[in-house]
Amino acid sequence: MTDDLLEDAERRFEDACRAAHLSEDTKERMRRPETSLKVSIPVRMDDGTLQTFAGYRVRYDSTRGPAKGGVRFHPSVSAAEVTTLAFWMTFKTAVMDLPFGGGKGGVAVDPKQLSAAELERLARGYTAAIADVIGPDLDVPAPDVATNEMVMGWMAHEYAKIERSHQPAVLTGKPLALGGIPGRSTATSDGAFHVIKQLQERVLSGIDSPTAAIQGFGNAGAQLATLLDDAGWRVIAVGDSAVTIHDADGLDIDVVRKHKDETGSLADCPVGEELDRDAVLTVEVDALIPAALEGAIHADNARDIRARVIFEVANGPVTADADGLLDEAGIEIVPDILTNAGGVTVSWFEWCQNRQGDRWTLETVKRRLEERMVTETTFIADLASDREIPLRTAAYVHALERLTAAIDATGTSDTFGVQVR
Ligand code: NAD
Repeated sequence: MTDDLLEDAERRFEDACRAAHLSEDTKERMRRPETSLKVSIPVRMDDGTLQTFAGYRVRYDSTRGPAKGGVRFHPSVSAAEVTTLAFWMTFKTAVMDLPFGGGKGGVAVDPKQLSAAELERLARGYTAAIADVIGPDLDVPAPDVATNEMVMGWMAHEYAKIERSHQPAVLTGKPLALGGIPGRSTATSDGAFHVIKQLQERVLSGIDSPTAAIQGFGNAGAQLATLLDDAGWRVIAVGDSAVTIHDADGLDIDVVRKHKDETGSLADCPVGEELDRDAVLTVEVDALIPAALEGAIHADNARDIRARVIFEVANGPVTADADGLLDEAGIEIVPDILTNAGGVTVSWFEWCQNRQGDRWTLETVKRRLEERMVTETTFIADLASDREIPLRTAAYVHALERLTAAIDATGTSDTFGVQVR
């Protein structure tokens, strides 16, 4: 990632600007992040040496509420990557009408090279370094690639120490014991499933038992495979970073998940035929569901896609160049900022729960998630039909119209988000 991804994001923004009723103020305000912080994090390693890591936190826009977005620990993390992801988060929270803006953070590190104790010191050091720019009313981090509940637990504890007060709403995705919420770990797949069900008649009309291929068999992809299988779909191919496994009659998802859980890989699975890793993208299928990486479908492989519709569960799995080629081929794309928004929606519930000093039940979480996903999916589908625009553009237009209403309501003075303390 990066510069390409940032360029892709800008192209989609320009497309949406042409289709939306936007003020010039909004266009100008959305061109740059509000704040962008780069920090150095010195960490004492287990062997006694000191190693310094680069960390970032970007608050792209907070007109509609505190910024919201994950923290990524990955070697590719850079200012450009974090900025792009913060930009997307601004649209994702607006699409779902959550009272948040967009933010993102990360540390350039390969977490697999660190011991658990080193990782904890890094997470605590990162929290201390960005403590001035996060807070329940300012910017609320969450887990992302290679950060999990445990990391959120360390970060929440470190922030409470710095503030000398309990502040569970400073971040979401915490362990249940520290104010986390039931249903967070299945929120992305649950949300995607609601979007798919809601759009099925529109994008796959007349097919009783649609087929699906899923790239990425991790948290989001594997759980979604089970939901589709239980709903009568045939999941005919799934892939991970090693291989694709394929069965035109439908894979036994329980067996595949058990094998993946036990061995950590789809290789040597007792069911299905084993194919090359990237074959999952090009099998003939009704719905292709990329749930792994950014940029998986690009100009060089877009013409090989043989699906009727793509549901983007991963963030940014289709490049802007590929969008055009898929459109020419008549393949509909249901965009990431809608399809995978279940995660941030349940993060909002967690933030509300913490601020209320309450405990939400799993039943409440599931019911309210379904309501949100169905409402926004229906609106976007109607907008796409009314204005004769692709679903992706409709999702961006919907977000931009909410953003522009908020930006215009702040007046025309020099306001530019909330100032850092
Ligand atoms: P994960 O790490 O649990 O799973 C990722 C999967 O992708 C693994 O099965 C891995 O083997 C596979 N993979 C990696 N490289 C691959 C390659 N080159 N080809 C095929 N498969 C490959 O991650 P996750 O939490 O399931 O997230 C997946 C995607 O969904 C990411 O883009 C993430 O940003 C997005 N997303 C996740 C959430 C969430 O709550 N989990 C929320 C929003 C968006």
